Amino acid sequence: CGIIGIVGNEPVAQRLVDGLKRMEYRGYDSAGICTIDSGALVRRRAEGKLGNLVTELADNPAPGTVGIAHTRWATHGAPTEANAHPHATKEVALVHNGIIENFKPLRDELIAEGRNFESETDTEVVVHLVSRQIERGETPEAAMQSVLPRLRGAFALAVAFRDHPDMLIGARLGSPLVVGYGDGETYLGSDALALAPLTQKISYLDEGDWVVITRDGARIYDKDNNPVDRPVVHSGATA
Ligand code: GLU
Repeated sequence: CGIIGIVGNEPVAQRLVDGLKRMEYRGYDSAGICTIDSGALVRRRAEGKLGNLVTELADNPAPGTVGIAHTRWATHGAPTEANAHPHATKEVALVHNGIIENFKPLRDELIAEGRNFESETDTEVVVHLVSRQIERGETPEAAMQSVLPRLRGAFALAVAFRDHPDMLIGARLGSPLVVGYGDGETYLGSDALALAPLTQKISYLDEGDWVVITRDGARIYDKDNNPVDRPVVHSGATA
C-alpha cells in the first residue's frame, strides 16, 4: 500500500520506518524493510502495526545505506509475516503496491521450473521473474525490461539487487510512484508526503515508466524503454 526506497549516504532503516509512518493514513496490515548490507539482502518483516516492525528492528537491526520498505494492505493472501513485503530471493528483493492480475499463470510457469514460493501473494511472481533473469546473467535493467511487459494489472514496484548495492529500480503502472532528489541521495516513494522529510524535489513518473536511482540521481525510461525526462517539481508537501 505504501512504498519507500532510499539510495543513501547514511543508514536507512530508521528513515525507511519514518517514511512508512507518514503513509500509515493509507491503512495497512503488515510492514517490512530490506536493506543491502555486506553483499547480502537483510529483510525484516512484521504483522500488524509498525511498532511490531520497530521492535523486530531493535532486536535484529538492518544495517545499510540502501533499502526498500512497504506497508501492505493485503489483496491476495492473509495478513501474515510470510505474506508481508518485501518478497525476496537470494539475489532480488521487492515491494509492490497494487495487484498482478495474471499472477496465476505466471506462478504455474515458475513452479513448473522448480521455483519455490514462500507466500500466497500475487506479488511473489514478480520477484521470481526478475530473479530468474538475474540468475541468467542479465543486468538489472535488462531484467526489468523483460519482466515488466509480462505483468498485467496495477503496480508500483521498488526493487533491490544484492549484487548491485548502489542502486534501486522503480516502476509504475496504475499505481503512483514518485522519485525524490536529495543531496547525494535519491528516493522512491508512493507519494510526495512520504518523502517530505527527505526532499521536496520530486518527479512524478508517468504510466508505464521505470527508473534507475543511484546516489547521483535518476534515469527514467518510458514503457518502450526510451530515456525520458520528467519535470522536477517542488512538492509543497510539508515535513
Ligand atoms: N497485492 C499485493 C499483496 O496482496 C500488494 C498489496 C498492497 O498494495 O499493499 O500483497
